[in-house]
Amino acid sequence: MTTSLSCHRCGTELLLSSDRPHPRFANAIYRRNLCPQCDAADPAAHGILAFFTVHRQVTDDNIEVFGKLLREWIERTAEPPLVTPEAFDEDVEAFNRGDFD
Ligand SMILES: [Zn+2]
Repeated sequence: MTTSLSCHRCGTELLLSSDRPHPRFANAIYRRNLCPQCDAADPAAHGILAFFTVHRQVTDDNIEVFGKLLREWIERTAEPPLVTPEAFDEDVEAFNRGDFD
């Protein structure tokens, strides 16, 4: 989890980033980023986005609520999307621009 990365889609600072084992590829991870702009229309992200709207940080007082909302978000987005040729080309272009540095 981090707050120092930028969204690869829009450049906005991410609220968090989650890595977990990829369900289809051995020895690979599935990274899911939470962007306040790009994920605003995703119903799966509404709970965790609402948390960060109210609480700017995770503290001892709100960590239980955070954990519940984080698990809900992860469970609702458990299956990574299949990679389309267009998405692959966009990622290659972003890599060549240095967006992943
Ligand atoms: Zn974004």
